[in-house]
Amino acid sequence: MNTPLRHISILGAGESGTGAAVLAKKQGWEVFVSDLGTIGDKYKAELNKAGVEFEEKQHTESRILGAEIIVKSPGIPDKAPLIVEAHKRGIQVISEIEFASWYTQAKTIAITGTNGKTTTTLLTYHILKNAGLNVGLAGNVGKSFARQVAETNFDYYVLELSSFQLDGMFKFKADIAVLLNITPDHLDRYDYELNNYIFSKFRILQNMDENCTFIYCADDPILSEAMKMRNDNVRMLPFSLQTLTGEGAFIQNDHIQFNIQPDPFNMSIFDLALQGKHNQYNSMAAGIAARVFEIRKDVVRESLMDFENIEHRLEFVAKVHGIEFINDSKATNVNSTWYALESMSNPVVWIVGGVDKGNDYTILEELVRARVKAIVCMGKDNAKIHKAFNGIVSVVDAGSAIEAVKAAYLLGKKGDTVLLSPACASFDLFENYEDRGRQFKAAVREL
Ligand code: ADP
Repeated sequence: MNTPLRHISILGAGESGTGAAVLAKKQGWEVFVSDLGTIGDKYKAELNKAGVEFEEKQHTESRILGAEIIVKSPGIPDKAPLIVEAHKRGIQVISEIEFASWYTQAKTIAITGTNGKTTTTLLTYHILKNAGLNVGLAGNVGKSFARQVAETNFDYYVLELSSFQLDGMFKFKADIAVLLNITPDHLDRYDYELNNYIFSKFRILQNMDENCTFIYCADDPILSEAMKMRNDNVRMLPFSLQTLTGEGAFIQNDHIQFNIQPDPFNMSIFDLALQGKHNQYNSMAAGIAARVFEIRKDVVRESLMDFENIEHRLEFVAKVHGIEFINDSKATNVNSTWYALESMSNPVVWIVGGVDKGNDYTILEELVRARVKAIVCMGKDNAKIHKAFNGIVSVVDAGSAIEAVKAAYLLGKKGDTVLLSPACASFDLFENYEDRGRQFKAAVREL
């Protein structure tokens, strides 16, 4: 694209904003970066080095709105007054991913869903990398897409996309799109309308044609219902825990059947590096994507076997006096916690709680009755959890990771599992979910 000295404003100077600024400058844009908070020293140095003008702790509206295009950090809601004003004036507001996509010819695999994005993105990247492809990893993970487009020359990208990023995408076209699942989440940003959130997720398909592939979970009721209303002219490859007839992947006799033409193959679910039903889904999605790019079957199989689990996702911490401790701090909604509880085989002492995003705990009730022997609430306001589970199992409160771990340890006995799977955001007691997970692990190691 040839755009000599047009004006672009970039809101937010984190990893994606700074990456976008570096790329924009390189492409000849007149760039202005603005952040309402303070900008990290590392990013300031980079902006200075690239010769990009920036401001922090304020938004100078007149300057920002003088641009033809605004690149907005996904954290800034569409309802922010500045964004509303930009739309009014006809300024295009896009995400960093959209912007970066204008300047690369690389093939892309775009991965979204309510849960499992990071796991599936890393799994897919791992397979492509093992196959020797010149592949980059971007989106919500690692270095920003824009920065990599500016600084490197990858032939492929695996991109993890949130719905907020998708909302700012218009011309982007994925070669392969993966939609893992849709359950209610982040509804505060979607006028509490599930349909708006669904629509946002399906943006991943926009601009795709018959040469592109859509990989999706056929077992997901919301996703399947939405698919009925659509008529996309793309290659469809579903995955499922039930038997499927056409092309796709499914589980039969404890094997994943990768029924992808021209060369189907299968592998045992017990060989998968990541265990649990949710990870069978993630492994199927990643495996299909790799086969669409014609990665050799043995590379796909071996990569799904030797992948190393990532921190805070059903991460084994330690066994203390026969009690196993598992850190699933990344489970910030009820659906991901459902899969965590579902994958437990021992009696569970469940540590749950934090900032509730409108949780409906009834979907967990059956699993709690079957698998949970005690609940430790770890949050400032635990009333909803008490209301949901009092009378089913004993529920106690804790005000820190140390207290929660001690309480859980006392409630457990040899052969039990203490599972931190909070189903809530972490901001009441912790900086973020990583901080929560690390404090949990540190407390376990202190026992
Ligand atoms: P995301 O990047 O979408 O937040 P992660 O891969 O980080 O997803 O996983 C977050 C949590 O969601 C994990 O702790 C796990 O318990 C759960 N999870 C992972 N994959 C799935 C899936 N396919 N379906 C439902 N829950 C999942």
